Amino acid sequence: MFNNLGDRFKDIFKKVSGQGKLTENNMKDALREVRLALLEADVNYSVAKNFVAKIREKALGEQVISGVNPTQQFIKIVNDELVEVLGGSNVSIAKADKNPTIVMLSGLQGAGKTTFSGKLAKHLKSKGEKPFLIGADVYRPAAKKQLKVLGEQVKVPVFTIDESTDAVEIVKQGIEASKNEHATYVIIDTAGRLHIDEQLMNELQDIKDSFNPNEILLVVDGMTGQDAVNVAKEFNEQLDITGVVLTKLDGDTRGGAALSVKEVAGKPIKFISEGEKLDDIAPFHPDRLASRILGMGDVVSLVEKAQEAIDEKEAKKMEEKFRKNQFDFEDFLKQFKMIRKMGSIAGIMKMIPGVDTSMIDMGMAEKEMKKVEAIIFSMTVQERRDPKLLKNGSRKMRIAKGSGVQVNDVNKLIKQFEQMKQMMKMFNSGGIPGLGGGFMK
Ligand code: GDP
Repeated sequence: MFNNLGDRFKDIFKKVSGQGKLTENNMKDALREVRLALLEADVNYSVAKNFVAKIREKALGEQVISGVNPTQQFIKIVNDELVEVLGGSNVSIAKADKNPTIVMLSGLQGAGKTTFSGKLAKHLKSKGEKPFLIGADVYRPAAKKQLKVLGEQVKVPVFTIDESTDAVEIVKQGIEASKNEHATYVIIDTAGRLHIDEQLMNELQDIKDSFNPNEILLVVDGMTGQDAVNVAKEFNEQLDITGVVLTKLDGDTRGGAALSVKEVAGKPIKFISEGEKLDDIAPFHPDRLASRILGMGDVVSLVEKAQEAIDEKEAKKMEEKFRKNQFDFEDFLKQFKMIRKMGSIAGIMKMIPGVDTSMIDMGMAEKEMKKVEAIIFSMTVQERRDPKLLKNGSRKMRIAKGSGVQVNDVNKLIKQFEQMKQMMKMFNSGGIPGLGGGFMK
């Protein structure tokens, strides 16, 4: 998503570069191209028009800042405007004063509502909450079953009444049942239709009136572009939703929906979903998406991912080992696993600004990692715990054979490992100021 728009912006920035100062005249072409780029990305017409008007106003009104060139200033203005149009800042999911917080999900059939119920449950669980799912999609035949399967996968209780088509009754009993489980969040999967119709809206309105949800999220299919935006507008007018979930942003969507929803429908995007897997959910951060569009990478979400992947307790233990210089190959292997949890190398690299992933052979990087892993796997536990044993040539030969590499590769890994330990020793002895401890955090 957004690759094209990002490329277009890069081209526009290139054309602006070299200008001494931003003027009405030299901005004209750039602004026209910004507008075209937005329209090509399927951004709503009046959103695109406003966007350009605001950039123009800011660019011409801006004082020249010393130490910054006009292109950089222009990029900053575009970035800020993108953040603005995407909603400004992250609006997190509501949390009621009293448990459980009730989250009602709505949306058209196929938007990804049921899948999102499972994703949200998993997400909330990872934040230490106790979610509880209620299957009240009484319209799509397989929806209740699908929710039960998802519930099992994420180990979250699911309540539904198979034979009932009375959504309000299901939710009523479900909320009661959630109290026995001491749930902190109740997520209600409601029915969708292929199109917005009166019956659907009445049903949703009934649930809303009966239970007064803390959060009414509308799930829309990002691939449907401006249709998604119109659906959001209409749902909001009829149901006064609290936020939008934009799904399927992994597909080849041009991204226009994300850029138009807030302004057209008036409600913030709270989550985006970029895949069918249960982990493919992320709270929506306008600033991060803006920097992703402009190709500046997304370090913040990289760090967040790392934080999620790294087990705090394990990290503390590892740090202690570093401090005492007891770090061995078993720990090394554990570190590898943590990195793996963050996703593929390619995925991680893409998020780092300034890294041109087309220049890196990702296949090679993955292969190198696998090779190192294979070598360590071929060591005995004793060898892993006491790397000194590896000075022995026949041991190295055995390991090389076992992992299908050259002895040279084993030597290289041992050498790198020793260098790393040396470095840690230096940090810990205060050899390099400001780097003592904390390495793993
Ligand atoms: P519902 O009718 O709104 O409950 O829709 P479902 O949750 O059953 O989803 C419809 C289809 O979209 C399913 O095949 C999902 O696997 C798929 N889907 C849901 N979210 C995403 C997403 O973010 N990306 C992709 N590629 N597919 C998704």
